[in-house]
Amino acid sequence: MALYDYDLFTIGAGSGGVRASRMSASFGAKVAIAEELYLGGTCVNVGCIPKKLLVYASHYGDDFDDAAGYGWTVGERRVDWAQLIANKNKEISRLNGVYRKVLSDAGVRIIDGHAEVVDPHTVAIAGKKITAKYILVASGSWPVKEKFPGSEHAITSNEAFFLKAAPANVIIVGGGYIGVEFAGIFHGLGVRTTQLYRGDLFLRGFDDDIRTTLAAEMRKRGIDLRFSTGITKIEKAGGPLRATLTDGTVIEAEQILYATGRAPKTRELGLEKAGVELRVNGAVIVDEYSKSNLDSIYAIGDCTDRMMLTPVAIAEGMAVANTLFNDKPMRPGYLNVPTAVFSTPNCATVGLTEHQARQAGCDVDIYRSFFKPLRHTLSGRDERTMMKLVVDRLSDRVLGCHMVGADAGEVLQGLAVALNCGATKAQFDETIGIHPTAAEEFVTMRVKIA
Ligand SMILES: Cc1cc2nc3c(=O)[nH]c(=O)nc-3n(C[C@H](O)[C@H](O)[C@H](O)COP(=O)(O)OP(=O)(O)OC[C@H]3O[C@@H](n4cnc5c(N)ncnc54)[C@H](O)[C@@H]3O)c2cc1C
Repeated sequence: MALYDYDLFTIGAGSGGVRASRMSASFGAKVAIAEELYLGGTCVNVGCIPKKLLVYASHYGDDFDDAAGYGWTVGERRVDWAQLIANKNKEISRLNGVYRKVLSDAGVRIIDGHAEVVDPHTVAIAGKKITAKYILVASGSWPVKEKFPGSEHAITSNEAFFLKAAPANVIIVGGGYIGVEFAGIFHGLGVRTTQLYRGDLFLRGFDDDIRTTLAAEMRKRGIDLRFSTGITKIEKAGGPLRATLTDGTVIEAEQILYATGRAPKTRELGLEKAGVELRVNGAVIVDEYSKSNLDSIYAIGDCTDRMMLTPVAIAEGMAVANTLFNDKPMRPGYLNVPTAVFSTPNCATVGLTEHQARQAGCDVDIYRSFFKPLRHTLSGRDERTMMKLVVDRLSDRVLGCHMVGADAGEVLQGLAVALNCGATKAQFDETIGIHPTAAEEFVTMRVKIA
């Protein structure tokens, strides 16, 4: 008789948990997965996918405006918010079904409900105990909202995806990628948008040229960006919400969205009682193989707070499956992880920022280009694209690529491969461009600006 009910029990059917479970099953493991809210996790339900759909929706206004320069006459335009959200919800339900099928087809048993770790080899769901040789915690993260008078009136990204009607105006608090993306979404859909951030410039950690260029572009579009500012109090008295800012001014808005970070969702999992060590913010402490301090408990994805990105959670899940059930111990790599901010316009980045490269002691050459994209020569839109290369002078290796402009994520994905292969600036220069594209600028930049 088998010692345990399962070889692997995964808690959380999000990006990481689903991939780890499917792959483990494909290697012959007997796998069960518990999900308490929605199959596909944050990314599919309240993250990347619905966000990108709303970003697409928000860009149509620009397209209608730009069309005039190309000879088009566009009639009356109006966005039906309820229809947009209903269509988005329908697509998400379809994806939930795809996830259920993919897991079932792989032979993974899906258990709907809240799972808790009881001991190093046992989980409990609705009072029923299940044993497993390994437990994989893939429970994701949850928005953090500070508490202050009236903070209960503010929403987070979770609720923003399900608003019944478009607010006339919105205040977004937070300067990370979620806040910046929602500012573009709301503004593009006709909502008067104010974004507040307590620091002196948003998108901390991104290259300074991305941060300043995006701020300028967002302001040009009419988004009210206020840095070094926060909210001390929110009042609700029938009409719109009244927010008192740190400088004492009061502004009103129909919705206030807090996008001030996310914390690992690990508090109601019984982990500490079972002996699993957590950081102060709740992140499961793991080694390079995603193993916790207990040999039978692994953790991946947002709940470990390494890099809160879907492809990273997936890579960690694949590594765990290979390590445990394919006899191929694997450590996911975190070097040159490319990432995009689906702001308006988009930003994307891979490798080191200029600041990081200099801090690491590198002697760097900086190549940077600002230009008006061809598309806007006729549209007349006053939007600039920014591209930047950070190059190590000694080895000529390209250390970082940064971009603000349309489809920046699509452009940077290929450059991430080049960086992973250790490409030099000379090799970038030898590469023939695709003409006429914005992307070709990355292989034609010749003038050093620093
Ligand atoms: C608004 C927003 C936009 C984003 N955009 C992007 C983007 O463009 N690109 C990108 O790469 N990343 C993006 N992310 C981040 C990305 O969604 C996460 O990094 C990714 O989903 C993490 O995957 P995960 O498997 O760790 O956790 P999740 O996908 O969050 O899955 C965890 C699952 O575990 C379940 N669970 C938790 N506890 C239990 C329990 N006790 N029992 C049973 N089930 C449980 C949860 O319900 C959830 O379904 C975005 C996030 C947000 C919020």
